[in-house]
Amino acid sequence: MSFVTRFAPSPTGPLHLGHAYSALLAHDMARAKGGQFLLRIEDIDHTRSRAHWEEQIYDDLAWLGIGWDADPMRQSDRGQAYQDALQALWARDLLYPCTCSRRDIAAAASAPQEGAEPVYGPDGLIYPGTCRAKPVSGALPMPEGEALRLNMEMALGVLQDYEHFGFDETEPEPHRVRFTADDLRNTVGDIVLSRRDFPGSYHLSVVLDDAAQGITHVVRGEDLADATKIHVVLQLLFGLKTPAYTHHRLIRDETGKRLAKRDDARAIATYRAEGASPDDIRRMVGLA
Ligand code: GLU
Ligand code: ZN
Repeated sequence: MSFVTRFAPSPTGPLHLGHAYSALLAHDMARAKGGQFLLRIEDIDHTRSRAHWEEQIYDDLAWLGIGWDADPMRQSDRGQAYQDALQALWARDLLYPCTCSRRDIAAAASAPQEGAEPVYGPDGLIYPGTCRAKPVSGALPMPEGEALRLNMEMALGVLQDYEHFGFDETEPEPHRVRFTADDLRNTVGDIVLSRRDFPGSYHLSVVLDDAAQGITHVVRGEDLADATKIHVVLQLLFGLKTPAYTHHRLIRDETGKRLAKRDDARAIATYRAEGASPDDIRRMVGLA
C-alpha cells in the first residue's frame, strides 16, 4: 500500500507547537510506513502570506529533523488548475455568482424565518441562498471578479448515488468520514469556491492540490474535521479519489485554549531561541 502524506501550512505567521505536532506526526507516519512526506505552502491568501514566514517554515521543519521528499507545492503557482476546475463546475451549472457582503448574509440569516436560529458551518454562517435564484447558465462565460458558490442542492442531485456519502463505519482504520446529504444541506450549504479577489478558495485548492500531489493519507487537526465532508463532496464532483483522513487532537495551552498563530510565545522559533532542542519540542507535544 502506498502512503503519501503532507504538511500544508499557511505562511501567515510563525509555526507553533500545534504545527510541529501535526508535521511530526505526519512525517513520522510516512517514515514508519516507508512512504513519502510532502510539503505544500498554502499561500492563496496573498494579503496575509509573507515570504519570510515561508522561509521560517522551511527552517523550522529542517531544524525539527523533518525532510520532505519533493519540491514544495505552492498554491500561488496553481491558479490555472483552480481556474480550470471552476470552469468545469460552472459548465455543469453547479456554481452561481454571489454578490452578498458578510453583512448581507448575517442579515438574511437572522431574518425571522420559522423562528430558526442562524446555523454556522465550517465557513461561518450557512449561506441563506439570496443569490441562488438569479438565473445563470453554464453555457455563458463564467463571471470574473465575483465570488462563486457551489449550488449544494444541485451537487447533491448529481451525486444521488452517494445518498449516504458514508464510508463504511466498520472499517478498522480510524480514518472514516461519515455524513449524509442532509448534513451537507443543513451544516455546509452553498460554500464559496471562488473568491472575489482570487479564483479559488481553501476548500477547492486543498482538494485539487491533495490530488495533484498524489496524497493518499491526510493527517491534520480535528479543527478541520468538519471541512472534510466538503472535501469529500468536491472529490466526488471532480471524480477524484478520496484519501484516508486522520484528524488529530489539538495542542492546547495551560488554560485549555487551542494555540493560534498569534501565540508567538509558543512559536517554534521562540523555543529555539531559548535553547530548546528538537527532542524538547517532541516531548512538549507528547511525541517522545
Ligand atoms: N493550511 C491549513 C492550515 O494551516 C491546513 C490545511 C490542511 O491541512 O488541509 O490550517
Ligand atoms: Zn449572495
